[in-house]
Order: sequence, then structure tokens, then C-alpha cells
Amino acid sequence: MVTGRLANEVRLSSTKMGMFEWRYSNSFDGAERRVMPHVELAKRFKDLDVEVELGFTPEQTATEVQRCLNCDIQTVFDAPLCTECDACIDICPVDCLTITPDADEATLRQRLETPAVNTEQALFVSEALPLTERVMIKDENICLHCGLCAERCPTAAWDMQESEIIIHHVEDMVTGVAK
Ligand code: SF4
Ligand code: SF4
Repeated sequence: MVTGRLANEVRLSSTKMGMFEWRYSNSFDGAERRVMPHVELAKRFKDLDVEVELGFTPEQTATEVQRCLNCDIQTVFDAPLCTECDACIDICPVDCLTITPDADEATLRQRLETPAVNTEQALFVSEALPLTERVMIKDENICLHCGLCAERCPTAAWDMQESEIIIHHVEDMVTGVAK
């Protein structure tokens, strides 16, 4: 008997393929959305079951996907690996990282080069770092998901991981197999 729902899950998997290679494109094209070509109106009225959208060519598709902002790619931090070399902080193009002594949240928000002013967005605060017991903090609100911190990090303390939201169906509960 089914008495409730399985909780939703978020699964993370590393996108790392090599020293400086990810299985996602970490830049983006700021171009406007391309207009999808449609079947002409006259033909659509004549053949009511015609598929209206013609689709992009492979070349148009290849350029359109570059507009993706990689919102599903998360920066994941492994504090025990961090040697506090500051390389990730130096390279971050939006200054959303810093290493600092732990403090209350309001104080930490002000310690970033670009203060984290959007209090609706949770601030990332790591566990204590092994060398000095300071913490890595990150303003998720302005992170570009560019992956430069992970590319620069010599110890792989930062990783770029793809997130997948799993909403279970009832058959997962019956079979016990989560898809
Ligand atoms: S992914 Fe880019 S923007 Fe985000 S913390 Fe790393 S370097 Fe900064
Ligand atoms: S680059 Fe890596 S090791 Fe250096 S401070 Fe950043 S996370 Fe730590």
C-alpha cells in the first residue's frame, strides 16, 4: 500500500573531463533568442494537422544552445582539499568568493569584495578550512557558473557539478527503483 510520496531529490554529478575540460560550455552567447521558422499561415489553414514549427538547422541549433546560462551547473566546494592559495578568489570575474574568519551572516555578507546584499539568496559558508579554520564564503546571487574557480584550483577543491532534480513517480515507490 502506498501511504505517501518519496521525497524529491537533487543529484549532483561532476562535469570534469580533464584538467581544464568540462562537459558543458562555460561561456555563453548574449545574443537575442533566434526566431523559430514557422510554416506559412496559408499552408497552416489549408493543412490543419501540419506541424507549425519547422525547427532549427543543425548549425542554428549549435549557436542557439550557446545562449544557455548553465543554471543547472553548480559550484561544489570540498573544504578539506582547500590550501587557501586564493587562486579562485583572484580569478572570479564577479568577486563573489572570499576566505575569512567565521562570523555572523550579516558580517560575512559585508566581507566580500562585492558585498552580498540580496538577503533572500542564501550565502554559501563552508566548514572550517584545514589550515587556518577560516571559511570560504560565496555569494550565489552573482555567480556566473563560469567554472573559472574550478579551472584555477590546484587541488580540485572547487568542482562544477550538474544538478538533476528527481521528482519520483508512484512506480518508484512500488518497485523501489528510483529513476
Ligand atoms: S563559477 Fe565563476 S563566477 Fe562563480 S564563483 Fe566560480 S569563478 Fe566566480
Ligand atoms: S583555488 Fe582551490 S585551494 Fe586555492 S583557495 Fe581556492 S579552493 Fe582553495
